Amino acid sequence: MTHPAQPKASHFINGEYVEDTAGTPIPVIYAATGEQIATVHAATPAIVEQALSTAKAAQKAWARMTGTERGRILRRAADIMRERNHDLSVLETYDTGKPLQETLVADATSGADALEYFGGLAASLTGEHIPLGEDWVYTKREALGLCVGIGAWNYPTQIACWKGAPALACGNSMVFKPSETTPLCALKVAEILIEAGAPAGVFNVVQGMGEVGGALVTDPRVDKVSLTGSVPTGKKVYAAAAEGMKHVTMELGGKSPLIIFDDADIDNAVGGAINGNFYSSGQVCSNGTRVFVQKGIKEKFLARLAERTGNAILGDPMDEATSFGPMVTENQMNIVLGYIEKGKEEGARLICGGRRADMDGYFIEPTVFADVTDDMTIAREEIFGPVMSVLDFDTEEEVVARANDTEFGLSAGVFTKDFTRAHRVIGNLEAGSCFINSYNDAPVEAPFGGVKASGVGRENSKEAIKHFSQVKSVYVRMGDVEAAF
Ligand code: NDP
Repeated sequence: MTHPAQPKASHFINGEYVEDTAGTPIPVIYAATGEQIATVHAATPAIVEQALSTAKAAQKAWARMTGTERGRILRRAADIMRERNHDLSVLETYDTGKPLQETLVADATSGADALEYFGGLAASLTGEHIPLGEDWVYTKREALGLCVGIGAWNYPTQIACWKGAPALACGNSMVFKPSETTPLCALKVAEILIEAGAPAGVFNVVQGMGEVGGALVTDPRVDKVSLTGSVPTGKKVYAAAAEGMKHVTMELGGKSPLIIFDDADIDNAVGGAINGNFYSSGQVCSNGTRVFVQKGIKEKFLARLAERTGNAILGDPMDEATSFGPMVTENQMNIVLGYIEKGKEEGARLICGGRRADMDGYFIEPTVFADVTDDMTIAREEIFGPVMSVLDFDTEEEVVARANDTEFGLSAGVFTKDFTRAHRVIGNLEAGSCFINSYNDAPVEAPFGGVKASGVGRENSKEAIKHFSQVKSVYVRMGDVEAAF
């Protein structure tokens, strides 16, 4: 019997599901059991061509619609997503293995927020009038054209919406390629947009590995590439886009600092560290994986952290009581287990976890290392799994310098009751998305993105509009033209 997660076909182009079984089969594995639940096929060159030509053809008419009309469609799509939140969350859980307890509140709901927010903004995208005496200049905010979105595997619904919603609000069309690991959810986003009234061809989904992404990025018809992925992939995609002088948004990895001063509320700080390391089993780009704890509260903090981490419920992700799911793939699990071994070898003190859980699926116990030093591999490289490194510090000056000593710059957090210090520390940290007495909140209203190797551009908020549109300026002369000859 066909599994309910099996999509009707692999791709969604020009308003309908499309199949081409000549493409390499991609098995979809449910991370909680290791069972194959679906198969899709990578896009063949014919499929890539169909998607790009369709999106190119659909864009101009879409951009000519009023912002109010485009926005209404996006907002209708948001409503449909919310009505179907349960089914979409179950699909997200099949796609990623994340527990339903999370997917019910963080995926289709976040996607719907993006559709609603950018749907609301669509009608307000206007230019300026700049008076110059008799003459004047006016500006218009125009769509970029055909955009490509490429997603990572941790938030397949959310990433499709965070890219698709602002792109479409501005009058662009999009071809979206999900990660080969999680190909299912973006198809539903495409289906829902059509149901909400989007013209066929404005949002298309094609499956495939890096080479399909590469074919999309290098096509001369493409005006912009928005990638969520790792830094090495980001460098390749950015370089390929530069060759064609295309716009880019790069949402890449991190090794973010979370700084806890000894006046902090311990339970809140522990909560922040848990949210910043163990949500989605640690597979979150903005995670605060270097937890700097001031020496005065270190042992108290570690004791409370170990106690609360022991309350994580590993188990069937479809059971709403489960609060901690598996790694997305066997490969990712092995990468993370490799880092845990490195941590042990390099002399970090294991506080809890530290091994594969004794159950089916790709579960790793939530793991905390203490006495981590700045030069250890687990403190320098992005692990993308449930491995928290706790480092000690003495002074503010010292911790800020150590926190910034990384190629990454996605996020940063600080816990303290001293607000002057909180703002001063955040002001000195090299990071794009920061938190004070909190961690990992990502409301659509707030800009999201990194500095340094963690990325270029911003998603969400009004900032995203700037990255999916461009300004045309028009000088209007009211009198005669003067010329030298
Ligand atoms: P990857 O960088 O491996 O892949 C990202 C996407 O790019 C995938 O769809 C991948 O396809 C595709 N891709 C790979 N190579 C190319 C290429 N040469 N040209 C075009 N596309 C290509 O990342 P992961 O999927 O492993 O995701 C984990 C990473 O994503 C982590 O580093 C994490 O920090 C980052 N991330 C960043 C976020 C942010 O917003 N800053 C949010 C979430 C994750 P395929 O995988 O099918 O080969």
